[in-house]
Amino acid sequence: IQWFPGHMTKAKRMMEQQLKLVDVVVEMLDARIPRSSSNPMLIQMLGDKPKVVALNKIDMADPEKTEKWLQTFKNSGLPVCKVDCSTGKGVKQMVAAIQQVARPVTDKWLRKGVRNRSIRVMIVGVPNVGKSTLINRLVGKNKVVAADRPGVTRGQQWVTIAKGLELLDTPGVLWPKFEDPEVGFCLAVTGAIKEDVYDRETAVELLLERLMHIYPEDLRVKYAIDFSEAEPVREVMAKIAVARGCLKAGGVLDIDKVIQLVLRDFRTGRLGRFTLDEPSENN
Ligand code: GDP
Repeated sequence: IQWFPGHMTKAKRMMEQQLKLVDVVVEMLDARIPRSSSNPMLIQMLGDKPKVVALNKIDMADPEKTEKWLQTFKNSGLPVCKVDCSTGKGVKQMVAAIQQVARPVTDKWLRKGVRNRSIRVMIVGVPNVGKSTLINRLVGKNKVVAADRPGVTRGQQWVTIAKGLELLDTPGVLWPKFEDPEVGFCLAVTGAIKEDVYDRETAVELLLERLMHIYPEDLRVKYAIDFSEAEPVREVMAKIAVARGCLKAGGVLDIDKVIQLVLRDFRTGRLGRFTLDEPSENN
């Protein structure tokens, strides 16, 4: 998906339509970049609809920073939970959090005498945060409810995932925010935006510079190299090339191969558990 302004307007309109169908929204964020993977427009679109924040990919994020991020969200009054879709850890707690934030809604229904109505939920987030993976986990063998309600596109279905709780089996795709170069960088290296919209070489240089400062030991150990934090990043790339045999004929360094290697190692978590967005200290 390319996010030109026209597409964003259309995506926003679609999201607003979809939001009308649900009582609770789960905003999924990438725990490595909770700030960069959020979409500030969602708050406006939600109005007073309850929201649960789900931090995903915690298996790849820095555990200490994840705890700080959880605290930051809690301090701002947002229900938050961590999920690891690769193992299913935390999914039950997330369902409980959804039921809890929905309580005012169900209480209102009770007061109005509405019975047997299920809470409807949708999972939203920027591309590649793990929405489909979570939906598959939640849906599993659960019962599919025919989507005979207005607004639900053909092919979309409601699935009962807990007593009185129905999930829309299609996620809401939010557009990433590109305006801030720092955010663009975080989205690029984690794989949330397509490779043809940014320069891989620049992204990997920035990534290595960042890691050299915040996680130097992981880099040293994983690539079996040594460097000082003040060293130019190109020199560190050359060291990685030598250590990993990224060489062309005649012993020339194959920088393209280093770029590929570092990006892959970062994205698979093989380099270590990293969080690029720093949790704020003051809230
Ligand atoms: P979507 O675009 O938001 O629907 O994202 P997907 O569900 O397609 O997931 C994108 C990629 O992230 C896939 O390769 C998933 O296997 C991977 N993924 C999803 N959740 C996790 C997680 O908790 N941990 C790890 N390590 N990978 C995950």
